[in-house]
Amino acid sequence: MSTNGKLFVVGFGPGNFEHITKRAVEALQESDYIIGYKTYVELIQGLLTDQTIISTGMTEEVSRAQEAVKQAELGKKVAVISSGDAGVYGMAGLVYEVLIEKGWKEETGVGIEVIPGISAINSCASLLGAPVMHDSCTISLSDHLTPWELIAKRVEAAAMADFVIALYNPRSGRRTRQIVETQKILLRYRSPDTPVGLVKSAYRDRQDIVITNLQDMLNHDIGMLTTVIIGNSSTFLYDDKIITPRGYQRKYTLNSEKQTLKPHQRLQKEAEPWALDQEALTESAGGVGLLTKAPEKKPASYEMAMEALSRVKGQAVKQSIQPIVQQKMESVFELAVSPGVANKQFTPKQMMTLAEVVGEKGTMEYTPNHKIVLKIPTMDPEVITGKLKSANFLLSPIGDVLTLKACDFCDGEKAESIPYADEIHRVLGGMSMPKELNIGFNGCGMACYSAVMDDIGIVFRKGKFDLFLGAKPVGRTAHPGQPVAEGIEPEQLVELITDIVGEYKQNAHPNERLFKYFKRSKKIQNFSYQDIAPKINIEPAPCED
Ligand code: SAH
Repeated sequence: MSTNGKLFVVGFGPGNFEHITKRAVEALQESDYIIGYKTYVELIQGLLTDQTIISTGMTEEVSRAQEAVKQAELGKKVAVISSGDAGVYGMAGLVYEVLIEKGWKEETGVGIEVIPGISAINSCASLLGAPVMHDSCTISLSDHLTPWELIAKRVEAAAMADFVIALYNPRSGRRTRQIVETQKILLRYRSPDTPVGLVKSAYRDRQDIVITNLQDMLNHDIGMLTTVIIGNSSTFLYDDKIITPRGYQRKYTLNSEKQTLKPHQRLQKEAEPWALDQEALTESAGGVGLLTKAPEKKPASYEMAMEALSRVKGQAVKQSIQPIVQQKMESVFELAVSPGVANKQFTPKQMMTLAEVVGEKGTMEYTPNHKIVLKIPTMDPEVITGKLKSANFLLSPIGDVLTLKACDFCDGEKAESIPYADEIHRVLGGMSMPKELNIGFNGCGMACYSAVMDDIGIVFRKGKFDLFLGAKPVGRTAHPGQPVAEGIEPEQLVELITDIVGEYKQNAHPNERLFKYFKRSKKIQNFSYQDIAPKINIEPAPCED
């Protein structure tokens, strides 16, 4: 039975004309009949011309679908409308069920087109911030067509599996028990602080948005036109927005013990592997002494976001970080350990402590910086640092921080300058920097721990210090630092280094290593940059930065 009739099953989105698709509008206007629930027909009335409207009550869904199929079979074009998406608790399934009952086949039967719309989970999420960023599910609390036991089971399974949950049909005048039961189940698995958003009539005249939490959600108005969005265990509140991070694995290191990943640490590839591809955005490799023009800085994603924000606001944006509501969860704690600034000897007890704190799940990696980097999944970093400290380890944060690399002072025989190394470590060690910064500190003119190859090289010689700045420590265009001063008086050293580091920290671009900053600024403190690098072109290697 082939006719010219056609069924459009149209999701018209949340209910305003800006959020309906072009195809949905075309279908409505092409149709002879519009069939739908009264309130919905009223919402789209403004888009219609001379279509015949068949509007019915809420519960007459089956007869609506039957009528639509009947009219299509008579050769009419019929639009069956649903709010949101017609395939999400909408009319699409029912229309197919009626067709199937009649033995309909696509080849021979009336044409059907399901036109997608923005479902409530999406429209409501957009008004709350970004609560649905991770795995999520929708659950309808209506037990009109589904037994409550099954709904409760699904709520429990979703709670257990830490899904972000969007509750549709959460409550009606008659149906009030389900949302109470649902809250009870959720509280068995999630913190009472879990952010919850209640959105009523999204993108309609009576739109109402409430940000609350799992504990307090029932103290607010929840009705037929509300969608309830419940965060997962890592969802947080920021400036009255509900945000669910894209991933779970959080890292924290010594200098950011409390808040695991601050907004400015996010979206860095090393912290969040799912982040934007940073390599495509950061400066391409190349020996600094060989560049013919000043390196052009390409901003990383965070900077671009800040730039966009400042343009929108027409002002510079401070990197202010407000406290965020965060539940306690297991994170990967990262730190580096060494036996000491000058001491290179591990004791058996230290090795045993390492084995104990790293356990089965953690890792330890020996690095070129004479340190062992530990990565340990934990909820209690303080327990780990406590044990390591009592084994006399020196602990340092990792990442873009200042690290002091000292020699062994000939196993302590040339100990005269050690107090200065200790002092620099005490004052500056672990401080966060625009880019990793290593200070090499060697206790005699042999400089056998290669201080001149570090970002800042300090060499003790004849009771005074020589200073080297701007080494490029890695890459095929690696070069030592420039000797910028000789015979610095010991009592001036720490202050001078503090000033150099302070200037670099304040003025360098993010990700700009000290040698690049020195070349760009031509001066650090009173030390001038000498352009002495040979002009030979070497192809940049892809992993050099
Ligand atoms: N097909 C629709 C869902 C229909 S079920 C869709 O995809 O969105 C009805 C439920 O949807 C309501 O109880 C409410 O929970 C939700 N809903 C639909 N439109 C909404 C809107 N504009 N604002 C908030 N919730 C809405």
